[in-house]
Amino acid sequence: MGRYDTVVRGGTIVSPSGRVSADLAIRDGRVAAVVAPGTPLETERTIDASGKHVLPGAIDVHSHHREPGFTHKEDIISATSASAAGGVTTSFAMPNVEPPPNSVDRLQPMFELYERKAIIDWNVNAAGTVVAEIPGLATCGIAAFKVFMVADTGRSYPHMPGIGVHDHGELLGIFEAVADTGLPLMVHPHDQQLMNHIERGYWERGERDFRAYARAYAAHDGIIWDSAAALLLRLQQATGTHLHLLHTQTTGVVEQLRRAKSSGQHVTAELNPWAVFLGNDWETVERLGSYALSYWIPEKNTEPLWEALRDGTIDLISTDHAPHLREEKELGWTDGWKAHTGTPSAQFYVSLLLDASRQGRLSLEQLVELTSAAPARAFGLRDKGRLEVGADADLAIVDLEAELEISDEIVLSKNGWTPYAGRRVHGLVETTIVRGRVVYEAGRVVGEPGWGRQVRPAR
Ligand SMILES: [Zn+2]
Repeated sequence: MGRYDTVVRGGTIVSPSGRVSADLAIRDGRVAAVVAPGTPLETERTIDASGKHVLPGAIDVHSHHREPGFTHKEDIISATSASAAGGVTTSFAMPNVEPPPNSVDRLQPMFELYERKAIIDWNVNAAGTVVAEIPGLATCGIAAFKVFMVADTGRSYPHMPGIGVHDHGELLGIFEAVADTGLPLMVHPHDQQLMNHIERGYWERGERDFRAYARAYAAHDGIIWDSAAALLLRLQQATGTHLHLLHTQTTGVVEQLRRAKSSGQHVTAELNPWAVFLGNDWETVERLGSYALSYWIPEKNTEPLWEALRDGTIDLISTDHAPHLREEKELGWTDGWKAHTGTPSAQFYVSLLLDASRQGRLSLEQLVELTSAAPARAFGLRDKGRLEVGADADLAIVDLEAELEISDEIVLSKNGWTPYAGRRVHGLVETTIVRGRVVYEAGRVVGEPGWGRQVRPAR
C-alpha cells in the first residue's frame, strides 16, 4: 500500500448515506484509503480523531469576500481564514465587488488575486449581466453565473451597476445565453417594482428605521420574493437553464419549488443560515437592529424551511456570508435603508447546524448532504463533497460534544463582529483539511495564502 502522507485515525466518517468507523488515509491530496480502524498503515503524520466525526469539508457556493473594492470589510485572506475555521474547504465568491467581474477582462485579475491569497479552494461566480460576455466567461472555469434582480435599493450597499438586472426581457436574454453554456445561473430573487411601491409607503409615513426596513422586505407575506421566484421559474421553464435560486426564505417559494421540481424543472435552491438562526426571531431583530438583518423572515416560515431542507425541496445550505463594518450597520437604528444588508456567518454556520442536528432538526447525514455533497453535485465539482478513495481529501474533524461559545473576540473576518455572539452551541470544528493539507487546527489558521486552487466544474 506504500506510505501515506496523513492518516486520520479512529473517527466516524459521515456521508449522506450513513456513518462508518474507519481510518482515512491521504496521499498527494486525495483520499487514498478508507480502512477498518487500527489497520496498520505507514504514514508521515497521524491525526487522532477518536470520539470525533469526520465530515466532508463544507462547500460554500455563496460568500461575499469583498475583494477587490471593499477590503475594508473583508478580503480574500480573512474570508478564507474564517471559512477554514468553520470547516469550509471550498468557497465561491459573489461578484458584487469593484469592478464587478461581468467580463473576461475583469474576471482574470480577480483569479490572480485568489491564486495568491486563497487559503482554501475557491471559485468566482461571474456576473452574468452582459450577454455578449457570457460565452467567454463560461470558458474561464467558473462554476456558475450570478445575477441580482435588485436594480435600485436607494442605499449605498454595494449593489453596484453591472450586477443587477430586473427588466424581464433582459433577464430572458440572460437565461437564453447562460443555457447555451450549460452552467447554472444563480439569481437573487427580488421584485423591484413591488418593492418600489412597498418602500414608498413606509417612507411617506416617515418610517425608516430597521423595523420598517425589516417589515418592508417581508411585506404581504414575502410578496417580493414569491413574485420574483415565480418569474424565475417560468424563465427556467422557457429556456431549460439550470436555475439556482438564492435566499429561499418564504413558505410561498418552498411551495413553488416543490411544484417545479415535481414537474422535472432543472432548479436547485439554497437556504442561508440567517433564515433559520437569526432573522426569523423578532426579538433578535429588536435587540440587534440591522446587525441581525440580512432579512426578516417571520417565524411561521421556520418550520416549513426545516421541512424543505429535510425533504430535499431546498437542495443545499450556503452562507451568504456578508461582512460589514459596525459603522455600516449602526446607521440602521435610524435608517434601515442606509445600513448595509447582510450578515457574516462562514465561521460559525457548520457549528450552528451541528447544534441544530443535536436538537433533532436534521440528521448528520442530511447535514453533510446539504453543506457538501449537494453543492458538489449541483455545481459539477466531481472530486469534492465525498470522502471516497480518489476524491480530494477535503474534510472537517468535528467534536459534537464540545461546546463553542461564539463571541466577537474569536471572529476572523475583518469586520470583527458576529450576530451570533453570546450563543453557546454544541459542535466544534477542530481541524480542517484542504487537499490533504491542514489549514486549521487547535483554534488557529495554519493554512497559507495561495494554497487554495480554483475548483473547475467537470464539463
Ligand atoms: Zn449574497
